[in-house]
Amino acid sequence: PPGLHFVATPIGAARDITLRALDVLAGADVLVAEDTRTLKHLLEIHGIALGGRPLIAYHDHSGEGPLQRLLGHLAEGKSLAYASEAGTPLISDPGFELARAVAAAGLPMTAAPGPCAAICALTLSGLPSDRFMFAGFAPATRAARRSFLAELAGVQATLILYESPKRLADLLSDMVAAFGPTRRGVVCRELTKRYEEVLRGPLQDLATEVAGRQIRGEIVVLVDRAPPVSATTESIADALDEALKSMSV
Ligand code: SAM
Repeated sequence: PPGLHFVATPIGAARDITLRALDVLAGADVLVAEDTRTLKHLLEIHGIALGGRPLIAYHDHSGEGPLQRLLGHLAEGKSLAYASEAGTPLISDPGFELARAVAAAGLPMTAAPGPCAAICALTLSGLPSDRFMFAGFAPATRAARRSFLAELAGVQATLILYESPKRLADLLSDMVAAFGPTRRGVVCRELTKRYEEVLRGPLQDLATEVAGRQIRGEIVVLVDRAPPVSATTESIADALDEALKSMSV
């Protein structure tokens, strides 16, 4: 069918791709990818011929010209498949500018959903899944990371972050400072791959374990929600004071 199709691709295991995603890749008039080599490789693995179809590189910083060309293809009634390098497009990956432009132009758009490291990690974390907040990558510099974490400290939802292995130890030690040593955390490494590993425990224990190890591979970090604010005698007295003041007006 005509329109833009966002296609989720594997985050590790090559067979983690849906039958519908393969149908879309096999049938689209134009293939568009964050990384054309990765998509070519995926097509090869699944025996899908590129044929004479165009394979265009596109990401959110490609600029107005390439974006308008893609919109032009869609306006002509062509079907486009867009894949980012791994997992779900738009999730710490390009695709948002494209989705926004297609939505604004009122052109058809759909998705073949599939793997996403954040959701896979949440599934395995053992942390509450009823409410969660995906926060992407924390800033790389310590000062910016600390204020970023301070903003998240009170959020009443399971936090999900992506991180590079070389910054994991720094992130965990800053989390101990921002969230306290006993808040529960989870580190998921190499999901769906051979050396998949899930570490669970108080943030301080995770920070200690990671500091003493060489960590490799792809990482998702999760943190339990903030504990509910407990009522102290003082806070109750303050609340009563406030209530009485507002009544006497
Ligand atoms: N779009 C992707 C998705 O849907 O998950 C995420 C792309 S983002 C550029 C790459 C980051 O996702 C990695 O640095 C890591 O934090 C996380 N990630 C991707 N694959 C992973 C895996 N197999 N195991 C753990 N984390 C993974």
